[in-house]
Amino acid sequence: MIKLFRFLKQYTLHIAVVIVLLFVQVLSDLYLPTLMADIVDIGLVNKDVNYILKIGGFMLLIAAGGTLCAILATYLSSKTAVGFGKILREKIFTKVESFSLHEFDKLGAATLITRTTNDVTQIQQVSVLILSMMITAPLTCIGGVIMALQQDTSLAWVLVVAIPILFGIIGITLKRGLPLFKVMQEKIDKLNLVLREKLTGIRVVRAFNRIDKERVRFDDANADLMDNAIKINIIMAVLMPVMMLIMNVTTVALIWFGALRIEAGTMQIGSLLAFIQYATQILFSLLMLVMLFIMVPRAQVSAVRINEVLETDLDIVDPEKPKLLNNARGFVEFKDVSFRYPGADQPALSNITFTAKPGELTAIIGGTGSGKSTLINLITRFYDVESGSVLVDGVDVREMSQKVLRGKIGFVPQKTVLFSGTIAENIKYGKEDASMAEIEHATQVAQATEFVSELEAGFEHHIAQGGTNVSGGQKQRLSIARALIRKSEIYIFDDSFSALDFKTDAKLRAALKPEIADSTVFIIAQSVSTVMYADRIIVLDDGQISGIGTHKELLNTCKVYREIVASQLSEEELA
Ligand code: ADP
Ligand code: MG
Repeated sequence: MIKLFRFLKQYTLHIAVVIVLLFVQVLSDLYLPTLMADIVDIGLVNKDVNYILKIGGFMLLIAAGGTLCAILATYLSSKTAVGFGKILREKIFTKVESFSLHEFDKLGAATLITRTTNDVTQIQQVSVLILSMMITAPLTCIGGVIMALQQDTSLAWVLVVAIPILFGIIGITLKRGLPLFKVMQEKIDKLNLVLREKLTGIRVVRAFNRIDKERVRFDDANADLMDNAIKINIIMAVLMPVMMLIMNVTTVALIWFGALRIEAGTMQIGSLLAFIQYATQILFSLLMLVMLFIMVPRAQVSAVRINEVLETDLDIVDPEKPKLLNNARGFVEFKDVSFRYPGADQPALSNITFTAKPGELTAIIGGTGSGKSTLINLITRFYDVESGSVLVDGVDVREMSQKVLRGKIGFVPQKTVLFSGTIAENIKYGKEDASMAEIEHATQVAQATEFVSELEAGFEHHIAQGGTNVSGGQKQRLSIARALIRKSEIYIFDDSFSALDFKTDAKLRAALKPEIADSTVFIIAQSVSTVMYADRIIVLDDGQISGIGTHKELLNTCKVYREIVASQLSEEELA
């Protein structure tokens, strides 16, 4: 957790003020019982009203000052802790944003969400405690002992007995409680995971009648979390009354033995009263320390989980000195590229070599799992190659800044993603300052105008989270419009026409042609009719290029391509 505190730098002043305020508050608290003893032992005994009023007034002033300090300190420490939480969430978020897909694969969304929310809250809560108690508790404890001894030394043995008992109980609690606290976060993770899967897959869950099974899965995770929380609460429920019991027994013992001494005339009533108060303060400060001991390990677990995210080494980082690009616009070159997903023993791509120039259409065809999406993920640098190099405009993608690289690319992913917001907002995602005319044009080209205009709100129609309230084909067209509005040098369409009917597909490609005529275009498609007129068709088979060339060339040279064609086109079309 200490490591995380480096983010508290901007709150140094706050913390310093809190420490001073708490210091003053503790001192005033420690001084009050002594003054009270004076009132009883001097003022009351001598029936000196003036003295009582004077000291009493003084006490009121000190108490008021102490309270003011306490309020201010609590305010400032809460502000610091909440700010700390904000900073942490920000850091995690920024870090996660820079993750490559590889790191996402490794950690998973569920735990990233818990870490950004729940774990940060844990840290935040414990920071308030630490801020307010790290000063108060030890100071009260030590100061209390000193002040108590000044009142009377012979009663001190009561404390000497009480404190070890208290520590014994604390020890037992910690031993039983810590393991429970440590697994708490994992259980929340698990619950989150089940919930997320269930929510995102709700259609499948329903279609396969798995609602009951999913409910059981959720119930299990839920009950597991509850059991753990109950165990923790039982321990706390026992702990608190036991602590109070010890405190009360200590008070009774003090009154008992103090009374004997008062009877013998060796102690005054005021001293005894003050002593009891000091004893309570000491035991109470120990109690606060226990709270710290309990909370800190739990927060420590959270801190480790947060650090894990923050210290994840990024696979894909910008170079120290990104190379500036020459004027070339949109050249893409693969030089003997091989790539494998982390942990896979088979390469997903091997020895890929080709070049694509502006004005050219490169089509990629091949069976599912042949590596088509993987290939274009290398152009956008979602992953880094294992060997060989991917060049864009003559520069290795690893040597340019990701921002520049991706600024050149209009990308329509295979799995269409829309965001919650209006249709216009979703299209403008490709270009923030796009005008309404540009939006309309892009929509027109993507063949989405018809369905958008049929909507009551038109471009202001609200897209639900994940784009669930539009059809697959509509989603695809909107995501094409989103890519088109950028006017990119390189366009990538990953199976982007699969959900379109034949007629729309043809119309879209006809409208697309002049739009992207000057760009370097990659189209991944399943159907021969889509790829047939490309300048270059890359036939992928099991991660390898089994043929590259135009439709005509491939028909003569590439067996895999002939098979694909034969399965789709009739004899006449072939001829
Ligand atoms: P295509 O787009 O041609 O259908 P992909 O490029 O998506 O195929 O996948 C190629 C191969 O890489 C497949 O065998 C697939 O199992 C594997 N693969 C794809 N994505 C990942 C990933 N994130 N982690 C590990 N393996 C993957
Ligand atoms: Mg794919």
